[in-house]
Amino acid sequence: MPDTAPIVARIEDELRELAADGLLRRRRVLDSPCGPECVVDGRPVVSFCSNDYLGFANHPELIAAAQAAAAQWGVGSGASHLVSGHLRPHEEAEAALAEFVGFPAAITLATGYMANLAIVPTLVGRGDAVFADRLNHASLIDAVQLSRADSHRYPHGDVAGLSAMLAASTAKRKLILTDAVFSMDGDIAPLPQLCELAERHDAWLVIDDAHGFGVLGESGRGTLAHFALPAHPRTILMGTLGKAAGVAGAFVAADRTVIDWLVNKARSYIFTTAASPILAATVTKSVALIAAADDRRQRLRRLIAQLRGGLADTRWRMPPSETAIQPVIVGDNHEALRVADALFARGLWVPAIRPPTVAKGSARLRVTLSSEHTEAHAAQLVDALRALA
Ligand SMILES: *Cc1c(COP(=O)(O)O)cnc(C)c1O
Repeated sequence: MPDTAPIVARIEDELRELAADGLLRRRRVLDSPCGPECVVDGRPVVSFCSNDYLGFANHPELIAAAQAAAAQWGVGSGASHLVSGHLRPHEEAEAALAEFVGFPAAITLATGYMANLAIVPTLVGRGDAVFADRLNHASLIDAVQLSRADSHRYPHGDVAGLSAMLAASTAKRKLILTDAVFSMDGDIAPLPQLCELAERHDAWLVIDDAHGFGVLGESGRGTLAHFALPAHPRTILMGTLGKAAGVAGAFVAADRTVIDWLVNKARSYIFTTAASPILAATVTKSVALIAAADDRRQRLRRLIAQLRGGLADTRWRMPPSETAIQPVIVGDNHEALRVADALFARGLWVPAIRPPTVAKGSARLRVTLSSEHTEAHAAQLVDALRALA
């Protein structure tokens, strides 16, 4: 018997090709909790990788909330939400989230990826049309495919282009789909104009606020609040709970009718076990901490200004971003990798993002800041990048 089946050998070949192109992915093991200072494969480093923008992933009050919830509710929910897995902590988390973002109702899901798969195919289907920003997150792209609706992708942030596409469409139902804060560039979608277009064309507007929730807007209510846009029956807001909220999971906030529809129809909500009640209870506590975290958001803004000021005159471009995501565009794949490796050797961990995640020729270091970085951490990164540029 040959030691490798041909069907496996083919994958081995492809893995070897990835390695030859410098595209093989590997995982580094953290020997510490998530935080600005962490231990990676036994080595202390300053991390600029995580989406834990407010430093809540290892917050003592959230750890205490999780411990108390485990003691009271156990570790597992035991079933899906529609069977017997919808526990009091889930119900309370939904109410807290809906109230916080100012929508009539909300549901929680196990991950943001699953939340997007719940929203799009439940609102549109064959013969309908989705209008999606070209730089949308992979989970939104997959959600459109799963819906079987016609997919129209408009150039990044191009309101005029989108407007023309909507006007030309004869689809019965239309849905505009966008990241609120774009995950690889950190820039903010033109939500006021998108709301207006949704209104004019009687379209759904689905907003993925994975990176704005907790960070932007009054009390960290998110990108809609950043623009002072109120809830609207045609607007569906998705937010994730594993980034600024520091826990795990996601929520969808919308009109009560839309939430009832999702509960009845969304397959990635119905056919999966409800998240642990520990997570639900911890999320409720996290929402309270987010609301009270103006000091953390202010520290984050100061660090953003420090980083951008410090790198303003290097040969690497930093596209405009007022969020915690601060890309440094290096351009060439191999150079981006070399810079990331050189930073890591200096104890600074910054991921190099390459195509196909970003456009060809725009390989970058994706720096993410947390309110818990110190001025000294940011200065260290600025100095190292200046030396390498
Ligand atoms: C992280 C992310 C998601 C996925 O959320 P998870 O909870 O990590 O599955 C969805 N959309 C965007 C824009 C994201 O950045």
